[in-house]
Amino acid sequence: MAKRHFGLLVTLLLLAAPVAAEASNRTETDHLIIEWADGTPQEAIDAAVAKGEKYYAAVEKMLGHAPPAAEAPKVTILLQGPGERPDGSRGYPHVDSSARVHLFQFGPTWHSYFSALAHEMVHVFRFRRQPYPDWFFEEGFAEFVSLRIDPSLAGFPWFDFPVTVVAGQWVTRGEDIPLATLRSKHRSVNQPCKAQAYALRSDFFDYLGRTCGDDTVLGMAAEEHIGDASQYKRHFGADLETLEMQWREDLQTRYRRLDDADGQARSYRESPIKYMHVCEKGREF
Ligand SMILES: [Zn+2]
Repeated sequence: MAKRHFGLLVTLLLLAAPVAAEASNRTETDHLIIEWADGTPQEAIDAAVAKGEKYYAAVEKMLGHAPPAAEAPKVTILLQGPGERPDGSRGYPHVDSSARVHLFQFGPTWHSYFSALAHEMVHVFRFRRQPYPDWFFEEGFAEFVSLRIDPSLAGFPWFDFPVTVVAGQWVTRGEDIPLATLRSKHRSVNQPCKAQAYALRSDFFDYLGRTCGDDTVLGMAAEEHIGDASQYKRHFGADLETLEMQWREDLQTRYRRLDDADGQARSYRESPIKYMHVCEKGREF
């Protein structure tokens, strides 16, 4: 009996050892688990707690539900260190298959960790193992919510420029991508054309919210399954093609009314967007 207890004790000690080692780079709050890479400044950890809780509350209020309890009883945020890795590869903010949010520091300061947190938080709340989600909608919806709960426009794809400048300059220069292509070829187009894809979707869903009401966008998001093109007609009163035409007209009008639109566009293209993947003009998909 005693021998068996000793064995159990050794097993427990062995199991406890790695957990204790990890505990120094981990903290828990009401809704979050935060883990960080060695060398992460305390301010960044404090900001992860403050911003994480703030965005959690805002997304929960806007969507009207908590994240799925099975995958994310608490939202895990991982501060992974510099986006530029020693081997030359780059890490990008994303949600992994266990619904954990991975964030990276891109700029010289830790503030750059959080430019995508609101967006990724939306993905966690909508984390479902659907075989065929409409990623065009999911990405556009994440941008739509993040524009509402964090209007600072810090970080990708805006880099402190108004959405109209960011999206409008792709359209004006003929470097945009049809929304139907972004939707039907999401997997092959989204990453290679990252700069255009995120900018165009964010302005389109922002436009839908402004013209049809944010509740209408939220109404489509609340459907059990997203992925059928007819849902756009049902919720927004026109098919995607017509909505796209109306949106382009609206965007171009807004862009023409800007003060020094072309000057702002030139400055935007000198922002960190110049390091992102841009699909060349006229490319076939
Ligand atoms: Zn996303």
